[in-house]
Amino acid sequence: MHHFAYRDGVLHAEEVNLAELAGKVGTPTYVYSQATLTRHFQVFAQAFAGLEALVCFSVKANSNRAVLALMASLGGGADIVSGGELSRALAAGVPPDKIVYSGVGKAMTEMEAALTAGILMFNIESAQELALLNETAGRLGVRAPVSLRVNPDVDARTHPKITTGLAKNKFGLDMQRAFDQYQQAAGLAHVELKGVSCHIGSQITQVEPFADAVGRLEVLIQRLRDAGIDLSLLDLGGGLGITYRNEEPPTPGQYAAALREQVARLGMRLVLEPGRVLVGNAGILLARVLFTKDTPAKHFIVVDAAMNDLVRPAFYDSYHHILPVIQANGRGEVKADVVGPICETGDFLARDREMADLQRGELMAVMSAGAYGFVMASNYNSRPRPAEVMVHGDRWSVVRRRETVAELMRGESLPDWMA
Ligand SMILES: *Cc1c(COP(=O)(O)O)cnc(C)c1O
Repeated sequence: MHHFAYRDGVLHAEEVNLAELAGKVGTPTYVYSQATLTRHFQVFAQAFAGLEALVCFSVKANSNRAVLALMASLGGGADIVSGGELSRALAAGVPPDKIVYSGVGKAMTEMEAALTAGILMFNIESAQELALLNETAGRLGVRAPVSLRVNPDVDARTHPKITTGLAKNKFGLDMQRAFDQYQQAAGLAHVELKGVSCHIGSQITQVEPFADAVGRLEVLIQRLRDAGIDLSLLDLGGGLGITYRNEEPPTPGQYAAALREQVARLGMRLVLEPGRVLVGNAGILLARVLFTKDTPAKHFIVVDAAMNDLVRPAFYDSYHHILPVIQANGRGEVKADVVGPICETGDFLARDREMADLQRGELMAVMSAGAYGFVMASNYNSRPRPAEVMVHGDRWSVVRRRETVAELMRGESLPDWMA
């Protein structure tokens, strides 16, 4: 459910006319709906009511400070994967004791920053990482709160590039290594064992993989209890899918119901790291048609947004609905490839799509672009990154202005022998 809908034939974000907005801010532009973000957070959090759950929004899905500040104001924490995300989360007002730090390659300086900030816990993925964290905490004279990220070897049944809980993936520790590592960690002077974590993948559209993962963690947790290691936090990661096309993912309520019994039995405090499910359908990418062209094989709609702005179609073969911003009477349908200006055959937003026959100068909305959209934008082809706008009722605000070409060259210099 989201707040992008037609009113009098014009697509609106809440009460904001997107044709007018595009006229003022230009294109390409990401537009987020605050009402949608708020609703998604609340529905998700309420689904886990009674379980003492901490919802740590996965910052990598959408790290705009306005989005993070909104999540924080709703009571959310943050799941971070870098020192940069730590800074963003803190700047947006996320309390440090609601921040969990995931990721397979944390650098020492990043560990120092997170220890100094006083985060809730580090999700540790290897023996070497644990040793470095112990050493770093010792030097700072603190104890590092730790959970080990377990790779439960369950198939999340999603796109291979976003599957993270299989034995062949780089993430986490297998069950036996995790058990051994916990025993070793219990003897480390500067580590405080807090919990266990897992994250099995993204855009997961069934509950079974989550339930399987918890089942396997439960076995490990019992084994650890028998060995005298009692953990208080259970971090189940993120990964709940959304509807891009015709997927029917579990609702947050169904997701929570599938886990509730097992989690309650364990009696641990739950941590969740949802990303996509909170922001995906709360954002769109506005683009304008530059040209149309026909070749013997295809009809192409060339737009001013490209794979550098939204890489998901090129990277994951993702589907995004494409809607005309203005519904014209009597407009026909075409089968088209929607492509950007970038010099790559992989630069497309849609392929062989039955869609509105949009003409030069018209606006389109690429739907469900709020997660892994702007955050994955690049400057390929020296294209400045798009603007981001937050809508709230009939108000809107540019929460990140469009990048300039001058900013693209900032930090570059000629070697002195060329100057
Ligand atoms: C990416 C990621 C998430 C969020 O995943 P979504 O599919 O967007 O919910 C949560 N936890 C970790 C460790 C991640 O890497």
